[in-house]
Amino acid sequence: MPYAPTLAWKGLEGPEEAHLVATATQRMAKYSEFLRIPSVSALPEHAADCRAAAEWLAVELRRIGAERVEVSETGGHPIVVAEKIVDPSLPTVVVYGHYDVQPGDPLDLWKTSPFEPIVRDGRMLGRGSADDKGQIVIHLSALEALVGTRGTLPVNVKYLFEGEEESSSINLEAWMAANPERCSGDAVIISDSGFFDGNRPALTVGLRGITYIQVDVRASDVDLHSGSYGGSVVNPANALAAMIASLHDANGRITVPGFYDDVVELTPADRAAFAALPFDEANYLAGIGASATAGESGFSTVERRGGRPTLDVNGIWGGFTGDGSKTIIPAHAHAKISCRLVTAQDPEKISRQLEAALRAAAPAGLHVEVQNLGNGDAFLTPLGDPYLTAAAGALEATFGVPPLYIREGGSIPIAALFQKRLGLPVVLLGFTPPDDNAHAPNESMDLGNFEGGIRAVIRALDAIATIG
Ligand SMILES: [Zn+2]
Repeated sequence: MPYAPTLAWKGLEGPEEAHLVATATQRMAKYSEFLRIPSVSALPEHAADCRAAAEWLAVELRRIGAERVEVSETGGHPIVVAEKIVDPSLPTVVVYGHYDVQPGDPLDLWKTSPFEPIVRDGRMLGRGSADDKGQIVIHLSALEALVGTRGTLPVNVKYLFEGEEESSSINLEAWMAANPERCSGDAVIISDSGFFDGNRPALTVGLRGITYIQVDVRASDVDLHSGSYGGSVVNPANALAAMIASLHDANGRITVPGFYDDVVELTPADRAAFAALPFDEANYLAGIGASATAGESGFSTVERRGGRPTLDVNGIWGGFTGDGSKTIIPAHAHAKISCRLVTAQDPEKISRQLEAALRAAAPAGLHVEVQNLGNGDAFLTPLGDPYLTAAAGALEATFGVPPLYIREGGSIPIAALFQKRLGLPVVLLGFTPPDDNAHAPNESMDLGNFEGGIRAVIRALDAIATIG
């Protein structure tokens, strides 16, 4: 597909623009250098490459004027921290990115080698070009241009670049707990994904949390003959189906007592943001081969998908499932059930409420066991948050249209971690749309988004300086 920008980005008014133009070639060279390091965090044979990428970042940060640059040990791949504190009375922004990348394979589906980046059709092609090295370079370039022209920054910035994001950030929370001063501030900017599509800017303001359980029910020691025993004892498969069916009412609302107690309801502004999304329901259905939407009544499809909690069976089994017929009453039946959650639902609490509801719905004679298989917190930055507004203004000034506000059904665990751990507003200011193939072959970064991204970061920092 040829590169077809839908929006052009707008240069800065100040001397930073000339600086950025003059350093464009050098910037692309540095970007390529960074991408050439195969810092695949998940593969042990790339541990030295991960460290090399961290060291490369540290050298770069020092070169462009960051202070207190440190490659900090975590027990796994190191975290690179740096800062530029210009005036303690100004806001301090914590900028997060990750220097580790996904593996390059399957190599045969790449048009080029994943770790030999090239520019083609207005895009930088290579593993990490979008996720997330390109976005780190955006921040470094903004810092370099500001320090290179003004000799200072409009606000204080702390940089935190981790090397294990693609491996579930396993050491990040413990590192943050041990190094609170290196990640304290007034707001967090996470630049890791972001645009809606193509060159249309977006801010992700909500991500759903999750709780996941498995329920196992049993009524007898062995499968029973359905002729001899049918009608006389509990059938675990019948019972489990009825228990699950009881978890929703006819309007698609979840009936688990207390389930909605902590839900932060959608505001009129939230609903307007959902309505503004260019969502084509017919296309959406055609894309997945489905014929109708479904869910909680009173909400649009995009609202139900991004802004409302859900309860879904992920798998259900029990009894005889082979070819032909076998007449039994199964001894046991099982289901895996997950709930997508919204702010401020507590996954652990929901898990307990769900277990209680299942137990309450179980008939006498049925033994019920419930195990929790995992929890994740939801994330929400309220519309109107001053840091979000600053980022939105910067995107609009740069890309010519206001950003769309997106609530994703999935999750970025670090966003919830930062919000919970640091208690700070989190702005997901990213510059890569879904078609950048992050995690897939032929990952690329639209260089219009890349260059525009640098201008947007500078504008955002200038706007944040005016937050009282
Ligand atoms: Zn990423």
